Amino acid sequence: MSMELRRRWPAGLAGFLLTAWMALPGPLFASEVQDQLPDMGTAAQQTLSIEDEYRIGRMVMRGLRESGRIVEDPETNEYIQSLGLRLSSLTNQGNRDFNFFLVNDRTINAFALPGGFVGINTGLLLDTRNESELAGVLAHEVSHVTQRHIARSIEAGGRTSLMTTAATLVAILLGAIAGVDSNVTFGAITAAQGIAAEAQIGFTRENENEADRVGISVLADAGFDPNAMPAFFEEMARRTQLSPDRVPELLRSHPVTSARIAESKGRAAQYPPVVTHDSMSYAVIRERVRVLTTPAGQDPRTYYASLIGNEPDSSVAQVYGNALAQLMAGDAAHAVPTFERLVATHPEVMQFHTGLAQSLIASGQSKAGLDVLERARVLSPRNVPVTIRYAEALLQANRPKRAHEVLLDLFNNVPPTQEQIRLTAIAANAAGDVADAYSYMAEYHIMTGDLPLAANQLELALSVPNLTEVQRARYAARLKELRDAMPQDRQRMQPQQPPPSGGGRSPNG
Ligand SMILES: [Zn+2]
Repeated sequence: MSMELRRRWPAGLAGFLLTAWMALPGPLFASEVQDQLPDMGTAAQQTLSIEDEYRIGRMVMRGLRESGRIVEDPETNEYIQSLGLRLSSLTNQGNRDFNFFLVNDRTINAFALPGGFVGINTGLLLDTRNESELAGVLAHEVSHVTQRHIARSIEAGGRTSLMTTAATLVAILLGAIAGVDSNVTFGAITAAQGIAAEAQIGFTRENENEADRVGISVLADAGFDPNAMPAFFEEMARRTQLSPDRVPELLRSHPVTSARIAESKGRAAQYPPVVTHDSMSYAVIRERVRVLTTPAGQDPRTYYASLIGNEPDSSVAQVYGNALAQLMAGDAAHAVPTFERLVATHPEVMQFHTGLAQSLIASGQSKAGLDVLERARVLSPRNVPVTIRYAEALLQANRPKRAHEVLLDLFNNVPPTQEQIRLTAIAANAAGDVADAYSYMAEYHIMTGDLPLAANQLELALSVPNLTEVQRARYAARLKELRDAMPQDRQRMQPQQPPPSGGGRSPNG
């Protein structure tokens, strides 16, 4: 997905991002994968710890990411993560980290991996009829995580099932490395989702009821319509009856019976009725995802052209989608006036600002584009997508020092995503801060769980000539932490925040 996005993204940025010079996640070898698996071989180790769950989930994530099927789009990620956290933060599992991500797959599915990783297919996002339905599916998956159903279902299967799961995960990861062959990659993703589905099928009926019950209460507490969860599952079941040969993936992993729907409807009815309004972000992100994931060879403008006549009053989100489609299709000049109108009428929607800036830049008005992003930064300080688009524009305008500055400020104040760390490393390198660039890449690899590669990046950082004392001490301390963690790799290493200044300059940068 990410590669596809970048290839299609207008202007020179695409090429720039693709030529990232630094070490990206290296190939996984079977032995390495085996090393990273939790030790489940002994009878005493039958219980999966939360850390073990996290390590399994992180491995699957790494495979998914390397296969390029995770939607790596700052605007989309921010929405999905904030919607997910709005739900998971209500579950009294504050000590658990949740990662919500979008998979570029038009089938209707969502799945929870061990360790708090919750995936939503683009097909599901596009097929929900309102935000409460999307939140309902997320709340259900979040509840599988918080109730530890995945760990329990693996445990219930005993050691054989555990080893089978682990071995299949290894196969998925090895398959994902062969990413040159798109069929292999696709197979790996299907297998990965299959794992999640398999684990879910392994859920007992009690597990499903519990996920419905807990999920509905979370949904209501978050201010969404609790009736939306049964409504969405019911709609899926209705479609299955209409075309039994096309069962949505979601139903394969979540068998829906009329009893289950009736029960959750009854449960939802116990909450006072609420009138909910979809957020503008929900509508805008749906159109964004529709455009960004348009299959190769198709023109994203076709869909919006087909709406004309059917829906004379296009919604604001559809107007946005059409302008984004023009931008993606290389017709940025036509997108500019539309985005200008959207920004003027809805200055609070940051996606409109980033769309306007990117359209201006793509149509050769680099200075105007940067101005738009600077104004947006005042309206919404440290907004992640705005800052990332600003930094990208600065890099493109050959202002890497400023790009490094704004990304470092973001890194110091907001929990970073992997892609964000990588961009920060690229900016640091372009600005000549080579040692810092290596240290960012170390943090990137720590996030993927590849501690040896992270250590390697820190060694490279330490080998850069003329480091400041502060830099040397910081890298050495982090390297020691890594080496201490490596033998057991039990502890979860959080990204380390560097000191506020960019540190010393490398003479050869
Ligand atoms: Zn379920």
